[in-house]
Amino acid sequence: MPLSTSRRLALLTSASLALLAGCGSSSDSPDAENASAKVPVVASTNVYGDIVRSIGADKVDVTSVISDPDQDPHSYEADTHNQLVLSKAKVVVENGGGYDDFVDRMLKSGHNDSAQVINAVEVSGKTAPKGGELNEHVWYDFPTVARVADRISAALAKADPADAAAFRKNATAFKAKLTPLEAKEAQIKKEHGGEGVAITEPVPLYMTEASGLVDKTPPAFSEAIEEGDDVSPRILQENLALFNGKKVKVLVYNEQTSGPQTEKTEAAAKTAGIPVVPVTETLPKGKDYLGWMTANVDALASALAK
Ligand SMILES: [Zn+2]
Repeated sequence: MPLSTSRRLALLTSASLALLAGCGSSSDSPDAENASAKVPVVASTNVYGDIVRSIGADKVDVTSVISDPDQDPHSYEADTHNQLVLSKAKVVVENGGGYDDFVDRMLKSGHNDSAQVINAVEVSGKTAPKGGELNEHVWYDFPTVARVADRISAALAKADPADAAAFRKNATAFKAKLTPLEAKEAQIKKEHGGEGVAITEPVPLYMTEASGLVDKTPPAFSEAIEEGDDVSPRILQENLALFNGKKVKVLVYNEQTSGPQTEKTEAAAKTAGIPVVPVTETLPKGKDYLGWMTANVDALASALAK
């Protein structure tokens, strides 16, 4: 009797897992040698990977799956190597909200049901607005990131009780550095609350909302860009009209999901003399989370001050 597809898939997955096991994991940390003494953690993106490292320090062996600054994370395709590291992880940090569904899928197919999984969207408690879509980019929401930091500290403490105090201390120190960012957003809100902002994709919205700015972008535009779909000519015109009519003070531009229609939008902003603030979904090269977000908030503040 020929083997069923799922049976063949199960055999293939375990065969490729066995094959890859021989290759050893390539985590973010170079010294794989004493990696075994560390808590193996998988983060779906290098944003969460960096936050885990801030809390776990040299007690964790972190693998970040999505980390290419030049690639659109929404179209990321996971591979058998990701499957391997997920099958061995003790702690997993995923974004959720449809952003990285491969994580749960691969944990299941890799038969790893003992990993502690932290889902940032669940931790955020955010849901879709009536008639709208959930903005799953919760790592731009500092109160959520603080709660995720606590969850990471608790999960690491469970995996490595001997270092629980260090994890708690690191999480407290990390959260303390988020406070000035929230203060900067409050300052922007005081000075520019109610002013209009345009975006190319929903990624910066929790930051602009916390800064009191009003998103004027047609949702059909930013959601289409997020999905990698084309925008209708009518919606594109509606979007470009935001700049000609100076309805917005700044354009926040997602460099990782750009294309001809976002480039037209950027050109319209520049022609109208409206400042453009570039943002990304994952960590820019050489930056950690706190440095990156500090630069984002500062760039927004100085663009609005122009
Ligand atoms: Zn996005």
